[in-house]
Amino acid sequence: AKESAAANYKFFAEYMNKENHSRLELESALRSAMKNNEFSLHYQPIINITNQKILGFEALLRWQHPHLGNISPEHFIPIAEDLGLINELGDWVFCHALEQLREWKTNISQEFYIAINLSAKQLQSNTLVTSLVNTIEEYQINPQNIHIEITETSVISDPEMAVKKLKKLRDIGFKISIDDFGTGQSSLNYLKKFPINTIKIDKTFVKSAESDQVDMAIVKAVLSIAESMDLAVVAEGVETKSQEKLLLGEGCKIGQGYLYSKPLPASQVKQLFNRKLRL
Ligand code: C2E
Ligand code: CA
Ligand code: CA
Ligand code: CA
Repeated sequence: AKESAAANYKFFAEYMNKENHSRLELESALRSAMKNNEFSLHYQPIINITNQKILGFEALLRWQHPHLGNISPEHFIPIAEDLGLINELGDWVFCHALEQLREWKTNISQEFYIAINLSAKQLQSNTLVTSLVNTIEEYQINPQNIHIEITETSVISDPEMAVKKLKKLRDIGFKISIDDFGTGQSSLNYLKKFPINTIKIDKTFVKSAESDQVDMAIVKAVLSIAESMDLAVVAEGVETKSQEKLLLGEGCKIGQGYLYSKPLPASQVKQLFNRKLRL
């Protein structure tokens, strides 16, 4: 099954990348995916390493194509952006994540949050802010319980506009996280200009911190800057106990990764709540 999944994946990537492939065909595939409920959200816990409690979940989009199987968001999100469908898809993600949060809200702490990824094109959209505000009102969610994740690369095309929009979102009460931190162009510059609450250290640094002195130094530097700026830090891609130990030793208190749990459908998250990591 794994082999055929890999083959599907490759096929899809080639299919999607074919230059003469009709945009209309791709567009109709994505549109029917939205209509036919081929999309779903998986949730991955974000953990307080010091006591192993769940602080929140990151919502991660999944596409189960009827013929091609699971398609990675890394493949279809850029296509949705290119075809002008990302705002619709982003709205879908936001609504479903908030609906889920409302369902969980009854038995969780007030600080519990859902982290939602926002793509570059969504940030550029003029309707983003109103759309997010309408949705939190519809689902009666406090924006403090929503962490909006943006990447450095999603702001480079128009940093001024991005700063303005993110400030608006933060004034409303949303929390802002910088995703994949360290992999972009001018990370340090953005730290200064952007209204952020959380830095997510990219998994490539976490992975090689044990074996590579430079990566270790970067992790330490990020933690130190974050502390002086009073920002939270989440280490992404924590896969082993020894990585966790190293991070904790450097004062990193929040982690996310396969060590704790892979992203799960909402139905399985219930079991995490109940058994594995009590709140
Ligand atoms: P991301 O935001 O950096 O999400 C983290 C990715 O790392 C996820 O991949 C997750 O499954 C994976 N991951 C989690 N723990 C580990 C670990 O311990 N080791 C390793 N190697 N990987 C781990 P996923 O779900 O395939 O998503 C890929 C990317 O697609 C995301 O990267 C994000 O940029 C994008 N994406 C996913 N959902 C959405 C969405 O709703 N909207 C937008 N705009 N982008 C999304
Ligand atoms: Ca993310
Ligand atoms: Ca990330
Ligand atoms: Ca990423």
